Amino acid sequence: MTDVVLMGDKFVPAAEATISVRTMAFNSGWSVFEGIRAYWNEEEEQLFVFRLPEHLQRLHNSARILRMELPADIDEMVERCRSLLERNNLREDSYLRPIAYKGLPTKLGVNLLDAVDEFVAYCFPQGRYLPTERGLSVGVSSWVRIQDNAAPPRAKIGGTYVNPALAKTDSLLQGFDEALMLTSEGNVAEGSTSNLFLVVNGELVTPPSTEDILVGITRGTIMEIAEEEFGLKVRERVVDRSELYSVDEAFLCGTGAEVAAIGSVDGRRIGDGNIGPITRQLQEFYLDMVRGKNPKYRHWCTPVHTSAAGTSDRELSSTVAK
Ligand code: PMP
Repeated sequence: MTDVVLMGDKFVPAAEATISVRTMAFNSGWSVFEGIRAYWNEEEEQLFVFRLPEHLQRLHNSARILRMELPADIDEMVERCRSLLERNNLREDSYLRPIAYKGLPTKLGVNLLDAVDEFVAYCFPQGRYLPTERGLSVGVSSWVRIQDNAAPPRAKIGGTYVNPALAKTDSLLQGFDEALMLTSEGNVAEGSTSNLFLVVNGELVTPPSTEDILVGITRGTIMEIAEEEFGLKVRERVVDRSELYSVDEAFLCGTGAEVAAIGSVDGRRIGDGNIGPITRQLQEFYLDMVRGKNPKYRHWCTPVHTSAAGTSDRELSSTVAK
């Protein structure tokens, strides 16, 4: 699996990448993280990270909410993450997980400022997360999405993932593929770790960023390509639960989920239960683009390997070269 882990500004062997039991991120969930995908392009023998600077910018924004600092600016964090993937010599679809967290406490209590800021990133090979070749069965969860003035969902805060974990686990145990979560007001928010789009009268509809969602980078990408490439109108608006049952198409999207069609909601079939035509077009376009195959969107794909053969340079425990 992962050979090398980035801890602070050092690359260390995975076996040495350990943290104290007193770490506040472990004790109380005080961490912010990202989930980032890198896609292998066979023809070019290159690994491309999709929208890496945007993910690290969101990590920075999440960190600010928890009064935390990243160890370096975004450009430098991009370079460290690229280097981490290269040092692990990953030559297949992979996943990158940077975490900024509160480490050892300087005092007992819940003052976020009484703990030391730390950073770690690791990566591993990762294929599909949700099935994308068929319509998913989703169920509206009885677990309600956390709200902004309690624990902000717009930040990817470690501790707040108890909320989608309860929803997802219960929905799997009930026989669904995935959960949909409602806001505390009863409007539709998002999937457990993905954003929701509906196709209504030939237009895309998605809940706005004020509906207690994580404002997904894939969501933003889909909004952009839907308008730019397919001339689709995208409406950000509040969605009622009962609307879900009569839409033409519905899909989830996220770094992990990619673009995954919804075949049924609460046992009610959407369309013919398979992947709808608009969803399929967006899915195909997306999966091609993330692999660096679309020149127009190549700027969203950060190449990892600086030499075609990857790197054999594994200077462990060395300070990151600027
Ligand atoms: N919502 C939640 C709660 C998530 O955890 C994720 C995954 N990061 C998403 C939506 C999708 O976000 P993105 O497209 O940035 O991966």
